[in-house]
Amino acid sequence: MNPSNYLRIKNKIPSNVNILAVSKGFKSQEIKTIQNMGQIDFGESKFQEAFEKQLILKDLKQIKWHFIGRIQSNKIRKIVQNFKYIHSVDSFEKLQKISHISCEEKKNPLIMLQIKLSDDPTKGGFKPELLKSKWGEIQELKNVILSGLMTINPKGLSSKENLELFKKCRSLADALQLQDCSMGMSGDWEEAIEAGSTWLRLGSLIFGNRS
Ligand SMILES: *Cc1c(COP(=O)(O)O)cnc(C)c1O
Repeated sequence: MNPSNYLRIKNKIPSNVNILAVSKGFKSQEIKTIQNMGQIDFGESKFQEAFEKQLILKDLKQIKWHFIGRIQSNKIRKIVQNFKYIHSVDSFEKLQKISHISCEEKKNPLIMLQIKLSDDPTKGGFKPELLKSKWGEIQELKNVILSGLMTINPKGLSSKENLELFKKCRSLADALQLQDCSMGMSGDWEEAIEAGSTWLRLGSLIFGNRS
């Protein structure tokens, strides 16, 4: 746990860049500590783990929860019910299902579409060409607010390689007239800011190493 890192980064980033505190693997008490320092947005990647913490923290109504993990189709209803943002929408089929369920639940989640910019087989997402060809259909979907794109860079890239991939994400978002880019984690957030990130997803840098 390293609260001073949180303040150091917060004071260093431009005002249009948001911090998403990624609390997966950390306890609700640790979320409270960071929340007390003024942090509102928290990201979780596993539904069950997140839900347990949301119950404990339910009185902290100002917290905005973001889902950033791989989306299993059978969890979409619960994700729609319990998260304001969904960063990791990696296929058209899942987006359609999120839209359909959001209509039933009378919710309007903010959506970041995950894009695949490298060949890393462990990372999913829309290929840029597919996203462009489906864009008309995507914009027709109801009850989803298309707020931006999200990407996860492969591990082990140089600073320059990270920057190049992040710039691709930013220019695709600009081409689609999307405001947000959810990009940059504890190891590559500085490059992400340089490329035009609006949401840094920071876990270990704020909370310390996960056990
Ligand atoms: C865990 C995670 C993060 C945060 O990772 P750190 O390296 O701890 O900052 C960001 N984004 C996603 C999708 C994650 O799963």
